[in-house]
Amino acid sequence: MSVVKTLEISTVKRAQLIDITPMVADMVAESGIREGLAHIFVPHTTAAVTINEGADPAVAQDLLAALAGLAPDKGDYSHLEGNSDAHIKASLLGSSQSVPVSGGKLLLGTWQSVFFCEFDGPRRRKALIKLLG
Ligand code: ZN
Repeated sequence: MSVVKTLEISTVKRAQLIDITPMVADMVAESGIREGLAHIFVPHTTAAVTINEGADPAVAQDLLAALAGLAPDKGDYSHLEGNSDAHIKASLLGSSQSVPVSGGKLLLGTWQSVFFCEFDGPRRRKALIKLLG
């Protein structure tokens, strides 16, 4: 069995991490898939998806701060659109993540959450969730 679902996300800041774990977990539950894989794909060039600690929001803030240090908003960039930092951050984190599904649940670690990562918002965004079982 295989289904693709679209998660619509409205971001409200230029850069932010949004915990989408509950939405992905709901999609898994609604799909009826008990054993398989959830593949989360972000079809954007200035957004990404990552898995990291969701219990303490300070972790997401530190990650954003570290990425801002690696790719500052303003720099000696060639891309004239003005969002090169966002493209670089998106590539550093990547456009997809996979999480095993067992017993109808995401097999994330105790402290893990799935984050949609906005780097050039606010915008209307999408994440595609491919469920295989
Ligand atoms: Zn651009």
